[in-house]
Amino acid sequence: MRAVLFRLIGVIALMLVSAGLVGWWFGPLPAAFVACAVALVVIGADTAAQLRVLAWLKWPRHDNIPTARGVWAEMLYRAARQLRLWETRVAHEEDKLKRFIEALQASPNGVILMDASDQIDWCNDTAAAHFGLDPKRDLRQHAVHLIRNPEFFAYMGSKRFDEPLLMRRNGSYGPLLLSVQIIPYGEGEKLLLSRDVTQVERTEAMRRDFVANVSHEIKTPLTVIAGFVESLRTLEFSTAERNHVLGLMQEQSDRMRHLVDDLLTLAHLEGDPHQPAEERMDMRQMVERLAADARALSAERHRIEASADAGGLCGARTELTSAFGNLVSNAVRYTPPGGEVRITWRVLHPDDGDPCAEFSVSDTGIGIAPEHIPRLTERFYRVDRGRSRESGGTGLGLAIVKHALLRHQSELRISSQPGLGSTFSVRFPLARLDLAKPVQATGASDAPQADRESISA
Ligand code: ADP
Repeated sequence: MRAVLFRLIGVIALMLVSAGLVGWWFGPLPAAFVACAVALVVIGADTAAQLRVLAWLKWPRHDNIPTARGVWAEMLYRAARQLRLWETRVAHEEDKLKRFIEALQASPNGVILMDASDQIDWCNDTAAAHFGLDPKRDLRQHAVHLIRNPEFFAYMGSKRFDEPLLMRRNGSYGPLLLSVQIIPYGEGEKLLLSRDVTQVERTEAMRRDFVANVSHEIKTPLTVIAGFVESLRTLEFSTAERNHVLGLMQEQSDRMRHLVDDLLTLAHLEGDPHQPAEERMDMRQMVERLAADARALSAERHRIEASADAGGLCGARTELTSAFGNLVSNAVRYTPPGGEVRITWRVLHPDDGDPCAEFSVSDTGIGIAPEHIPRLTERFYRVDRGRSRESGGTGLGLAIVKHALLRHQSELRISSQPGLGSTFSVRFPLARLDLAKPVQATGASDAPQADRESISA
């Protein structure tokens, strides 16, 4: 303000002094001429400065501030300072917005921001994957036009968003179940959150199936036992009949005990995150013991063959014994009398890798059709439910085998031909082996070993 006043006083003083001096010497006409000339020069300089300032204000930047003097210099200095402040604030806000968007982008949930007319303002990659959107091309499109689903259409129309909507969609990797929730905010804007609950639903379905299966498995023997108890209370039995009934009751209670034992083993294998205590097991002794168990179970109805290379296996004894025992007992149970069961432990020397060892159980039994093989390790999956029950099966044996082997970094391989027999085998990596003799690569993957021992009855 003061600078403007001083400048005005200066200009007027200059006009008066120069016009006074000229008027003193040359008279009033030249004096008026000089006063006009001074005024014109001052106005011209001001106009030029105004034009430069106006031109700069159109696209204000720091690197092209025009030069000016006096009041104009002061104005430019203040405008440039405001510009710098404003730029700093904008950069700060942009940075905040960028981090906010990065956080939304990193969210495991799908996020869509919609304006008051339900057009998509922004969506993260997860939402794009959930709804098959293109995060750039589909902006400013109506959500209901892109998310073509009658339930979603009705949900948006209802304007009641207290509860999430469960929506099925075909994702790029198969069917998806999405939980979709709209959260209104601001002036009619909406936030859409989507969560993939496919796995949650699958787990819940598995839990329901499991409870139904366990209840069913326990209900059958319980019903039989309850029937016998009722009969014993109400009917007269001879001693022989009574003993027969008690024998049947014991069979059923053994079945329940077996089931509970298997359930506990499975729960332990699935739920215990700790690696079990490991020890070295002599595999010749192990195979010998398995063959003896098989003979006891077979009661001379089958030919049981066993052979084992020298060497030990490192692992949890109870878990591996239970896994191997399940495979052996299955082979006996699913092989008709007169058939053969072979238990083998052999060290292999593949051409293209480290030595490994394979435990396998082959039988000449009923075999398994190919469509059942991928599902055999599911809990309670049985090809022939009646046959499994008759032979004392719980439907949990191979699930136990699978989990026990997973804890030993190995997996079960099954090959089978209906009517001809099956082979269940498992390979253990070198790290788990304690080979009695130094290993030499022979090049032949399953060449007979000189020190393989046949274990006969
Ligand atoms: P189960 O107690 O019924 O034997 P498992 O989990 O041990 O349960 O086996 C699942 C199913 O796999 C069995 O019900 C049977 O149908 C099939 N199975 C397992 N082992 C054999 C085998 N050696 N030969 C033919 N079928 C087999």
